[in-house]
Amino acid sequence: MLFAQRIEHLKPEGAYVVLARSQELEAQGRNIIHLEIGEPDFPTPAHVSLAGIKAIAAGQTRYNPPAGLVSLREVIAEVAGKQRDIQINPRQVVVSPGAKPNLFFPTLAVVNPGDEVIYPDPGFPTYEAMIGIAGGVPVAVPLLESKAFSFDLEAFDRLINDRTRLIILNSPSNPTGGVIPLADLQHIANAAQRYNSWVLSDEIYVKITFDNRAVPSIASLPGMADRTIIMDGFSKTYAMTGWRLGFGIMPESLAAKVDLLMTHSVGCTAQFTQIAGIEALTGPQDYVRMMVQEYERRRNLLVSGLNNLPGIHCLKPEGAFYVFPNIQGTGKTSLEIANHLLEYGVAVLPGTAFGKYGEGYLRLVFANSYENLERALERIDQALRNL
Ligand code: PLP
Repeated sequence: MLFAQRIEHLKPEGAYVVLARSQELEAQGRNIIHLEIGEPDFPTPAHVSLAGIKAIAAGQTRYNPPAGLVSLREVIAEVAGKQRDIQINPRQVVVSPGAKPNLFFPTLAVVNPGDEVIYPDPGFPTYEAMIGIAGGVPVAVPLLESKAFSFDLEAFDRLINDRTRLIILNSPSNPTGGVIPLADLQHIANAAQRYNSWVLSDEIYVKITFDNRAVPSIASLPGMADRTIIMDGFSKTYAMTGWRLGFGIMPESLAAKVDLLMTHSVGCTAQFTQIAGIEALTGPQDYVRMMVQEYERRRNLLVSGLNNLPGIHCLKPEGAFYVFPNIQGTGKTSLEIANHLLEYGVAVLPGTAFGKYGEGYLRLVFANSYENLERALERIDQALRNL
């Protein structure tokens, strides 16, 4: 039987490939420290889980509006607007099961076959996948370590043109932890206006930042509200990956189209999940602060530990829970080092799991305990000495 061409380019996410390989090793009795999957190691805050449980017990288990409960859209408009210092109307908000549909559906809604889409490389693998499904032409712009992993703006200026329909940004970034500075956002915003392009700004890590770093949003720059889609969600900030809850904020006219795509695909987001989401946004935020503080402590451990190892150079990420060390000094490829570390009991991803410009780097997740990170550093040290 034949498959449609539009899915021929799809590949599994690198994290799941490495997870499967490390689980095989565990089945053989090996001990593996998992630094490959980008998921908080904390449980969902208890008051948030309880709100969801109560909602199920109260029968809030039915179909509801495809773009989400009005009560949740109102809370998101207020909280997300305050975070970015912009006015958001609840009708601009589309709630989705996880944040991913708010990458996918806005892309389907604005990209025609043959349109070009600029995206960060190294970047979250879903970007390239969804551009291809929409029939768009993926145009990778390198992130530069020398710019703390912001866009190579010279490459950006060379690559943007009249066919560029969409520009994807991700700040703080997976896999680098980099934050795009305001001056770069301004440059990108000017270009988006000049070429009449949409911007999809993946801000899922906006509340996980270190050293009190504020993360500017391109949506708050003059003239950008009409052409920006903000994607954000609950998975990372509130340790709710399995609940599946995210949202997009976009011009009302586009939200109405994305609402239709939701209607005819997923239908709606679970009601009780959305009730838990209201509790997450309106309840106490000290749990989030505690998680971020702990991530910061782990980041500091990992960065200083990695910088003491032969052949490794590691920038201090400003947000998210990833480090993206440069391993070029080892003389090996990313895949060779990742495979070698797995032999020593540490599962990490090669930078190339995030695009060709990830060669020469690894991604390590510090959503793991301090003690495990200490042990991982010892194992990596040993592995590099025995290269
Ligand atoms: N965007 C980025 C940059 C991510 O790292 C992730 C999850 O790994 C997502 C979006 C998707 O989030 P969700 O699990 O809520 O769909």
